[in-house]
Amino acid sequence: MSNVLWTELVRRLTPYVPGEQRHGDNIVKLNTNENPYPPSKEVLKAIAEVDGDMLRRYPDPESRELRECLAEYHNLEMSQVFVGNGSDEILALAFMAFFTNGQPLQYPKLSYSFYPVYCDLLGIEKQVHELETDFSINMTLFEDNRGGIVFPNPNAPTSLAAPVDAIKELLARVPHTAVLVDEAYVSFGAQSVVDLVKQYPNLIVSQTFSKARSLAGIRLGAAFANPELIEALSRVKDSFNSYPVDAVAQRAGIASLRDETYHRQTVAKIIATREETVAELEQRGFRVLESSANFIFVSPANGNAAALFDELNRRDVLVRYWRSDELAAWLRITIGTDDEMKKLLAVIDEASLVV
Ligand code: PMP
Repeated sequence: MSNVLWTELVRRLTPYVPGEQRHGDNIVKLNTNENPYPPSKEVLKAIAEVDGDMLRRYPDPESRELRECLAEYHNLEMSQVFVGNGSDEILALAFMAFFTNGQPLQYPKLSYSFYPVYCDLLGIEKQVHELETDFSINMTLFEDNRGGIVFPNPNAPTSLAAPVDAIKELLARVPHTAVLVDEAYVSFGAQSVVDLVKQYPNLIVSQTFSKARSLAGIRLGAAFANPELIEALSRVKDSFNSYPVDAVAQRAGIASLRDETYHRQTVAKIIATREETVAELEQRGFRVLESSANFIFVSPANGNAAALFDELNRRDVLVRYWRSDELAAWLRITIGTDDEMKKLLAVIDEASLVV
């Protein structure tokens, strides 16, 4: 479908397709890496306390209180912190601020499928690097090309974490190139490099409240970098939308950061469920990559992930499958509650009789 009023750019776009948001009593939804637990009660309380006056007025365009809290949480200055409407928006702003130099943007072949979408929207050339055969990112392939480098850590959809030493070596080796480390899933087992922004002026780290903090519905993300890079992000933001983080999201974010105990407990529960699920799947002959995320990347013993995906889907268990040659044998499964994972395993056992 297209329309005569569409520009050439719009015609050419292939937009990102988020996982299906199907809801219902019996649906086990393990397809969008959402947290199966609600946010902290403190967050719900803070949202309930939002009054008419707060909604009548525009929010603080600079989200100062929230950024102060984030700075304190990470032992940084507020000038090293940026917030946005989900980390997707932060990625888009960072692409505009740092990756439109006329040089190609480098990223690993298997990584977040939004990266090429932003490149196409913004006219950025792509330089895609192959993964190693064990699916890890080969950091030595990245070049100091001034165009930019982006990768998720842990990587999505592979769930593998990169060693901090390899990231440090990279940062030192490419001083003329902005390196964006997308830490959407970092709380589930990878080591964060947020602290390195004090040391490396070419590093930007993005994080999100959507996963470990159960706030995907609020749309809140954060970025960390040296003050000059944060200023670049602010300049782009203020040339696009001065108020990307609404008043409710600002209150919710602050309350979430103040309830560290709940955050830790939730993450620990998800990790425990992940390890149990991995053991069960391995017993059934699945290949499972070593996950540092709230999802696992798995391949059934017979390699027929497409058929398993269809069978799971028919039985109301939603997981993620990409119909591409290189990912044909793999499924990405979000870690849900213990009960949800039991249902997954039961359905896999039933489905394998069919598949
Ligand atoms: N980065 C990666 C690797 C992701 O998988 C996601 C979630 N789809 C995001 C960033 C964006 O998350 P959000 O916009 O909810 O912060």
